[in-house]
Amino acid sequence: MKIFNTLTRQKEEFKPVTPGKAGIYVCGPTVYDFIHIGNARPMIVFDTLRRYLEFRGYDVNYVSNFTDVDDKIIRRANEDGVDSLVISERYIAECKKDMEALNVRPATTHPQATKEIPDMIEMVQQLIDKGHAYAVNGTVYFRTRSFPGYGKLSHKNIDDLESGHRDEAHQLKVSGEDEKEDPLDFVLWKPKKEGEPSWESPWSEGRPGWHLECSVMSRKYIGGTLDIHAGGEDLIFPHHENEIAQSEAANDQTFSNYWMHNGFLKIDNEKMSKSLGNFFTVREICEKYDPQVIRFFMLSAQYRSPLNFSAELIESAKNGLERILNGGKKLEEIVAKENGKEISEAEQQLLDTELPKYVERFDAAMDDDLNTADAISVIFELIRFTNANTDENSSSAFAKKLYDTLFTLSDTVLGIHITREEAAVSDDEAAKIEALIAERTAAKKEKNFARADEIRDELKAMGIEIKDTREGVKWQRI
Ligand code: AMP
Ligand code: ZN
Repeated sequence: MKIFNTLTRQKEEFKPVTPGKAGIYVCGPTVYDFIHIGNARPMIVFDTLRRYLEFRGYDVNYVSNFTDVDDKIIRRANEDGVDSLVISERYIAECKKDMEALNVRPATTHPQATKEIPDMIEMVQQLIDKGHAYAVNGTVYFRTRSFPGYGKLSHKNIDDLESGHRDEAHQLKVSGEDEKEDPLDFVLWKPKKEGEPSWESPWSEGRPGWHLECSVMSRKYIGGTLDIHAGGEDLIFPHHENEIAQSEAANDQTFSNYWMHNGFLKIDNEKMSKSLGNFFTVREICEKYDPQVIRFFMLSAQYRSPLNFSAELIESAKNGLERILNGGKKLEEIVAKENGKEISEAEQQLLDTELPKYVERFDAAMDDDLNTADAISVIFELIRFTNANTDENSSSAFAKKLYDTLFTLSDTVLGIHITREEAAVSDDEAAKIEALIAERTAAKKEKNFARADEIRDELKAMGIEIKDTREGVKWQRI
């Protein structure tokens, strides 16, 4: 597989540190509110990367953090008059619900900054001991110029950064600017202010800087060298640049071999912002659309390209998904017939010579820097192929083979279901349905057909259809 590496600005063949394994770290959200539709893009595309690598046989260790200590969380906690842990735990739980709806699998580990403080302190101490960091008045700063590679990811020249910084510091009088050795130095540990969560450390009672947490947690849960580090393109500078400086200065080894960054999602071609009123949470959009439509929409573009979210585009995603679902349904119906027919010679011929071509082309698209847009086009072509080559005379065994291939590519790899999810029925509701069916059976036995019909209508009003079969009464949601 080839991956576009932000570090080298080239597509490179993916070679993991350990053959057959892949350690991936994805910067996760800051949990002070429901996640927005932009946050869903890295979640969905890198979940798809993970699924694809697993499909190709890799054992993937997928780590994605929750930033659970941060100014925004503290502000929200103060507004609501609760502890900041209450806010972060609440929105971690809400984020996990959104992830599940979007069919984003839980990470192997979801570390949280507040639960890793001893390791944070250890890395800060290591950096101080090696001369890469210094403490002033309880704050610890990273000595940026002590790391020769600074700027390599964002392709920025350190002297240009320095002059930009000096102007900015001069104009804004950035606090703490005068206690730093150099305007480029950034915070590893900061002392607490009144009402902020804090932990004891050798330098002050305080909390870790944001950049530090990813360096620490990726090392702990993956190792000193990651195979892939990913996140949105806004994180390249300064977040990822600073992560590289901290990790490589502390560990004396390459921090990550590949860097993947997703492009930004805009709303109606504008940057999403609360003040413009075009800010949408995943939860809000899921009220109007099946979350599968969102997943399909996100994957309908290659992850590095900018993506525009509009009512028209989401409608077209809905129609695209419908085509996949209809294709899946047609095959499923032939499979369900269990007609016991042998696979015919013509069918076998298609399985041997035609079907593998779709899989090959799908793989080629995914191997080309995770081109999910092309991969979805191949799925559409596969559906055209299955529609054209199946009818009521097809053998169920043949339809099953087609179904399995479609399932693997769409459902397993892209995480896009090929069959409609039946709306779940709660235990209470199921008990009520069963009781009504039992009552109807009894009514029929007593030849009270009026009551039996009444119950059928009652169930229909609940969205339940019943069928009398040889094995008894069966019901399904309509
Ligand atoms: P944050 O909570 O702001 O740190 O964001 C969590 C993740 O979502 C990061 O990888 C961001 O780069 C990404 N992200 C935020 N906004 C957008 C957007 N509009 N489009 C795509 N990715 C985004
Ligand atoms: Zn990070």
